[in-house]
Amino acid sequence: MLLKCEAKQCTHNDNKGNCYAKVVNIRGERARITDQTLCSSFADERIDSVAEFAEEFNAARRKATTKSIKCGAHRCEYNKSSRCYADSIKVNHDTASCETFVIL
Ligand code: SF4
Ligand code: SF4
Repeated sequence: MLLKCEAKQCTHNDNKGNCYAKVVNIRGERARITDQTLCSSFADERIDSVAEFAEEFNAARRKATTKSIKCGAHRCEYNKSSRCYADSIKVNHDTASCETFVIL
């Protein structure tokens, strides 16, 4: 259920590791390792237009959980029909990849 994210430069991140995106899109259709996954909902807070767009269309009042995830990494053990069934996940600081990815 718990979604923790170290990518604090993302506009959806409250700087405490919590995400406030309405939908968290994880990419990784061909991923075999963590580095090939990516949170494509990442919006760089240093780029005003990107941050504004993200706030307008993908901001939520509630903290995101694993239920907020739409995940394309179908080779991950926790993926079922593009939903994430891990108890908790962690998104990486440098690359916004999913560190919880485990290949089937
Ligand atoms: S999970 Fe994705 S959208 Fe949420 S704060 Fe992290 S990088 Fe941003
Ligand atoms: S743990 Fe697996 S299914 Fe869940 S978000 Fe990460 S890559 Fe996707």
